[in-house]
Amino acid sequence: MTHPNPVISFKRYESSPDSLRELIRLCGGFDRLRPSYRAFIKPNLVAFDDRYPMPLYGVFSTTRLVHDMVFLLKEFGINHISIGEGSFRGKDFAVSTMGIFKALGYPRLEKRYGVKLVDLLEGPFQAVDFGEFRLEVAQPILETDFLINMPVLKTHNQAVLSLGFKNLKGCLSVKSRKFCHGRSGSLHHHLSLLVEKITPALTILDGIYGLEKGPFYLGRAVAMQAMAASKDPLALDLAGAALAGIDPANVPHIREYAHRHRRSLDLNRYVTQGTPLQELQQTLKWDNHWNEQNTGPKAWEKLGIRGVFLPKYDETVCTGCSGLYGTILTMIMASYTAPLNDIEILTGKRMKPSGKANKTMLLGNCMIKENRKDPAVKDTVIVKGCPPSLRSVLDGLERCGIHIREDIYAAFRQTLVDRYKGKEGFDESFYYIGASS
Ligand code: SF4
Repeated sequence: MTHPNPVISFKRYESSPDSLRELIRLCGGFDRLRPSYRAFIKPNLVAFDDRYPMPLYGVFSTTRLVHDMVFLLKEFGINHISIGEGSFRGKDFAVSTMGIFKALGYPRLEKRYGVKLVDLLEGPFQAVDFGEFRLEVAQPILETDFLINMPVLKTHNQAVLSLGFKNLKGCLSVKSRKFCHGRSGSLHHHLSLLVEKITPALTILDGIYGLEKGPFYLGRAVAMQAMAASKDPLALDLAGAALAGIDPANVPHIREYAHRHRRSLDLNRYVTQGTPLQELQQTLKWDNHWNEQNTGPKAWEKLGIRGVFLPKYDETVCTGCSGLYGTILTMIMASYTAPLNDIEILTGKRMKPSGKANKTMLLGNCMIKENRKDPAVKDTVIVKGCPPSLRSVLDGLERCGIHIREDIYAAFRQTLVDRYKGKEGFDESFYYIGASS
């Protein structure tokens, strides 16, 4: 995996497909590609909410760059091109990967270029030995000759940054994804290992829109028009950290990978080409801050919200349950009228009741198993599910005395979309392939 002189290319996105073509040329991205190869593109299409409005900026890889990549592969003479993702699907985020592809216009790539669209969660999966454990990896990923990883430039509340290494988690089965969020808190370790066995030939970082306070729709997108590429997965993630203005030493899975391979985190040790980094870089804020007692976000202090204790999610909370956090935070803020009667909400696999709450909401089957018989719990509010449905979370909040205002929540979700409308640099057509694009 080590590369004597890893090359990273940076480029400002200006036009399709020329900007991507130049980015790839600058890092020699197609040097090892052969016309007979089967190529596989793995974008980031994490999950889609079809009940409430959801902005895609910085959350999904732009369809524009995926389209450009297909065009360039065809231009190179590649006949076997697949695009695959394993988008999270639950009771609420019920849209499958194929449904997301359809909504974005990917079937036009099937028609125009003969591309094969793949839902990685449909399997089959192959058990891959990572030394300390085995993970189920989607077989199409393992069978490809040329894996092109196309993550988005986004911050991530648990992993700090979600770039190339992190995007590979979408190649795993649901069972293996949950395993990565194990009780021992080994998420970062698992993320650092994925690339050892799921090794992209090329990683293209889509920073046309970066996302702060990510990884999902509650984050704030920044129009950056930035792209980076490398054949070296570590070099690419270091490039992404630099674009986001985040020290890679503060990103545990990147730091651990570099340490294990005795690689430098210093970008000056890598060869950089193309647009100067300083012209593209914008500092992205990582995450919401919790108060010192870890009883709730700092913002609640300003809003005067009292009587509810919501400790910050830890790394044992997997995507299904962590996706509910934003909803819970928003619901509480939207519905709050008077101090609550000391309720606490526990998530993940290892939180413990404080012993001070009058009601303890145990969210998800893991928390229920962990704490339902704990004598420190005075009155338990059970919210079953793996992950629980939004409906059962709302019922749980009601049982805690929080009178839910779904209309306010819906209006709030609309504001998340509206805040980009008419704003310079934001263009929804980056996400949709139309008849003429
Ligand atoms: S209940 Fe939540 S944290 Fe536990 S395995 Fe299911 S999704 Fe993950």
